[in-house]
Amino acid sequence: MSVVTAPRELPEAARIVVIGGGVGGTSVAYHLAELGEREVVVLDRAELTSGSTFHSAGLVGQLRADPTLTRMNMYSVELYRRLQAGDQPAGWTESGGIKLASSPERLAEIRRQVSWARTYDLPLHEISVAEAAERFPLIDTEGVVGAAYLESDGYLDPSQLCYALAAGARANGVRIFTHTRVTGIDVTAGRVTGVSTDRGHIDCEVVVNCGGMFAAEIGRLAGVRIPLVPMSHQYLVTEAFLPRRDDPLPTLRDPDLLVYFRQEVDGLVMGGYERDPAPYTATATTVDAIPADFNGQLLKEDWPRFEEIATNSQRRVPEMAEIGVRRIINGPEAFTPDNEFCLGETSVAGFFVAAGFCAHGIAGAGGIGKVMAEWIVAGEPSFDVWHMDINRFGRQWRSPGFTLARTIESYQRYYDIPYPGLQRLAGRPLRTSPAYEWHRAHGAEFGEKSGWERVDYYETNAAAGDESVRPDSWAGLYWSAATGAEHRATRTAAGLFDETSFSKIEVSGPDAAGLLDWACDNRVAREVGDVTYTQALNRRGGIEADFTVTRTAADVFLIVTGTAYGTHDMAWLHKQARRRGAQVRIADVTGLYSCYALWGPSARDLLGTLTSADLSKDAFGFMTSRELTVADTPVRALQVTFVGEHGWELYAPSEYGARLWADLWAAGKDFGLVAGGYRAIESMRLEKGYRVWGTDITPETTPYEAGLGFCVKLDKDGGFEGREALVAAKERGLERKLCAIVLDDPAKVVLGSEPVAVDGRVSGRVTSGGYGYTVGRSIAYAYLAIADAAPGTPVTIDLFGEWVPGAVVKEPVFTATAAADASATTAGAR
Ligand SMILES: Cc1cc2nc3c(=O)[nH]c(=O)nc-3n(C[C@H](O)[C@H](O)[C@H](O)COP(=O)(O)OP(=O)(O)OC[C@H]3O[C@@H](n4cnc5c(N)ncnc54)[C@H](O)[C@@H]3O)c2cc1C
Repeated sequence: MSVVTAPRELPEAARIVVIGGGVGGTSVAYHLAELGEREVVVLDRAELTSGSTFHSAGLVGQLRADPTLTRMNMYSVELYRRLQAGDQPAGWTESGGIKLASSPERLAEIRRQVSWARTYDLPLHEISVAEAAERFPLIDTEGVVGAAYLESDGYLDPSQLCYALAAGARANGVRIFTHTRVTGIDVTAGRVTGVSTDRGHIDCEVVVNCGGMFAAEIGRLAGVRIPLVPMSHQYLVTEAFLPRRDDPLPTLRDPDLLVYFRQEVDGLVMGGYERDPAPYTATATTVDAIPADFNGQLLKEDWPRFEEIATNSQRRVPEMAEIGVRRIINGPEAFTPDNEFCLGETSVAGFFVAAGFCAHGIAGAGGIGKVMAEWIVAGEPSFDVWHMDINRFGRQWRSPGFTLARTIESYQRYYDIPYPGLQRLAGRPLRTSPAYEWHRAHGAEFGEKSGWERVDYYETNAAAGDESVRPDSWAGLYWSAATGAEHRATRTAAGLFDETSFSKIEVSGPDAAGLLDWACDNRVAREVGDVTYTQALNRRGGIEADFTVTRTAADVFLIVTGTAYGTHDMAWLHKQARRRGAQVRIADVTGLYSCYALWGPSARDLLGTLTSADLSKDAFGFMTSRELTVADTPVRALQVTFVGEHGWELYAPSEYGARLWADLWAAGKDFGLVAGGYRAIESMRLEKGYRVWGTDITPETTPYEAGLGFCVKLDKDGGFEGREALVAAKERGLERKLCAIVLDDPAKVVLGSEPVAVDGRVSGRVTSGGYGYTVGRSIAYAYLAIADAAPGTPVTIDLFGEWVPGAVVKEPVFTATAAADASATTAGAR
């Protein structure tokens, strides 16, 4: 083991300064050096591996709910194998790993995971209970109903990994300075320019905050909020009791019992996720206050809190009741409010973060280092890392109380099955529409997104629905017949939807038109009043954002994007503005306006009773916007649709929001108006084929692959970001395409990520799916190899281990008659 000591002199300048010498910082530095970066400096306030890394249990499990993270963890294993074979091994033991199902629901989850693991060649297999017991002979199989085995899982010595990465980085020129505390981060004109330390100052272009649980504190030095909470996490190490074995025991997880195990020499490591977790130092009013000398230290063991885990462990491994405990480790670790990492460039240009690893940082470190290094060097990550992007966190996460409540809840639910539609409860309600009380009074069931309470459906509509179309299995769990009723009323009369949570961004200034035309693939600097559906692309031609742009004045544009995407899309636009040196103001105006969508065949007549404006097709065309007075409310109306029915989104100053909703509702009485929720919108958009960013379209997919080529204006003056990549892609020809699939059995409803096979060979993975109430069919979308993309191609989809048949169909699955106008050629996926 090589201990890296502090050289005397800090350099005056470096290109990149990495703060933190845990597995995160050393892996980022290792991969930066691999990419050829030579001016990299790593600083740690104490020794390497003196944060969370040294007290880690070291399990490396690759399978996660998120496909990108699973791919990153698979890369980690590849790297750990490579390091193990080198001069400075990481202590890697490729023991294999077992996941037990101690409930039928868990077995369903395992089958689902086994099926989607196929889509990236992860060798995960379902095994019998007997085989699980054979591989891990210490278990009592009572209550175990199934298991899965992943032969390439394993464990390592976290400190050895850290030293191996540091050695690799140093061999490629990275300089590492321990006992060097960063005390300040210089930010000039929104860009990082240097760091101050207790041993001097370093000018630099890029700072990477790999501070683990200290990352929030480091973020504050640059005025950046990183919402993570240090949580205490415990495991124990038993006395030696195992007979000598040739092969190591596999790692073992029993999530229903909240426990994990691995072999440690001749004993076991056993830990878990308590239902009663304990934050370390954070409170509802103070985010964190980790002592300045907290390095190489542990917390006091907390037996009462560990009791549930200890009791459960004895149920699964009875010898745990007999065997002595050598020590119990209680160490703090950075958890985030949604159990996903915080990666990427922050709102300060050049200031990156890679922290908040939620007790899977050892498994993730290899992949994290690779993704971050690519992100820093190329300006963009090579994977779709939206779920881990620091820019998924909006302003609500500045609240320590909200962050703490959600983080505690995430820790409690760490091992729970993430059923679709299952709601988070902590910290609610936070952000509400002006019509919120109306929704509550009318039986709304709310779903939460980005702190907003959004109507999923009104249970009061369920009586008008059809219970007989409840889907099988998980898709039927958090389901209501109300959705079908709301869907059908919108298709046949009119539906009113509260979309106030949409993120609204105003871009203004002398360069606004030029910037947006550069950042978007479509032509958006059209006439005042025009609305354009567009994507913003990265340099690889991948879709970084997907929104509508309305020109409201010569130098003012209103962007409307998804509820969860505001911070992300603003950050992307800011980045483009910096690159272009554009004189623009980019403002989040989400809270200034309520937004209600009125769609359906009766929408025009209904709205006509509330306004003197001419709503005829000639006077108010599709994809245009006008200012109207609706009843007593000043409104900006956008004629757009996300459901395939004619209608408007009505944006009103928030103070009018409650009144506008009431007036629309009252006027709707004579038109069969139904108030609907997001589930009905989702069902209608699936029928119509509108894409959703983050699932159907991502930074890894191009508009051509996604069937959005109609937005791409290659002939635009001055070009646009991503154009060259698209031209090259066009020349190469499409290799895959997003296809609509209809399943034979309408009760089999997919949830996303399932493999799709053609002729028994996996051709793609489901991006999204659901039930279309007008067509009465189960619909799925998937990128399929181009040879398999023709309508009529028979497919099978692996749903919980059962291959269910269906076929590729021509899009859209459903078209409204004249009402949908030209909507087949536009969207507004939000
Ligand atoms: C009890 C426990 C068990 C775990 N078990 C597992 C497991 O089995 N598998 C798994 O994958 N993960 C596990 N983890 C999680 C894993 O250990 C962490 O995710 C990982 O080690 C975090 O690494 P890091 O580099 O982000 O942070 P750290 O290791 O905490 O490194 C951060 C570094 O930043 C330095 N620093 C802070 N502030 C400054 C400053 N101002 N200037 C300079 N330097 C600074 C600190 O000194 C520290 O060395 C476990 C964690 C705990 C607590």
